[in-house]
Amino acid sequence: MLWSILLILSMIFLLYCLLPSYWARNRSNKVFRKGQGPKKEVALTFDDGPNPDYTPRLLNILREYDVPASFFIMGKEAKRHSDIIKRMDKEGHTIGCHSYSHRHAWIMSPLRTIRDMNQTYNLLSNILEKPPKWYRPPWGTFNAASMFAAKRLDLDIAYWSIEAQDWTARTTVEDIYSRVIDKIEPGSIIVLHDNQGAPGAPEKTLQALPIIIRTLHKQGYDFVNLDHMKGEEHV
Ligand SMILES: [Zn+2]
Repeated sequence: MLWSILLILSMIFLLYCLLPSYWARNRSNKVFRKGQGPKKEVALTFDDGPNPDYTPRLLNILREYDVPASFFIMGKEAKRHSDIIKRMDKEGHTIGCHSYSHRHAWIMSPLRTIRDMNQTYNLLSNILEKPPKWYRPPWGTFNAASMFAAKRLDLDIAYWSIEAQDWTARTTVEDIYSRVIDKIEPGSIIVLHDNQGAPGAPEKTLQALPIIIRTLHKQGYDFVNLDHMKGEEHV
């Protein structure tokens, strides 16, 4: 009896959690992981914000260097900081959904997954007065309902090709810099964070960012937002 229950639970875990995540991260052509083509263009993306302390300073840096980026917003933060999101849009950045409260997809039922996606989508649509076009799953994890929920709202799904692990306490400014620069290539999508993580973690991201931008500019790279990288005009 116990073995039967364990077997059923394992099958559910495999089919609802593991296989969809593996497929979406590595195989699905519906998930945008990297720009194509030889152009020296890369995309900076920032997850989990906005944060009232860090995000405006981050936007100042991007404005100073005239660099567009893409922001994946948590619904619960959008509610409190709609002014920052309006500024992102006004300054030419791409804005996408990053769930309402950053729950791991593997502990979400299909219904909860759809509701969570709708909630954040509606919040951002109201703030921006137009629908968002992108979704990035929290923790980079998918369940069997994630793709369906995003497709219903006509959201493109974004993953990444470079992760600087800037949310951990032990990551240094130099680590963030070298993890990005060492792996950079045309079409790279870099994920960084302007909120959450270890206490003070986004401060290190803010310190690394200007050095990363200057180095990549010197190497001949241009920064683009995800709309541009995917071949669409930012509207
Ligand atoms: Zn996140």
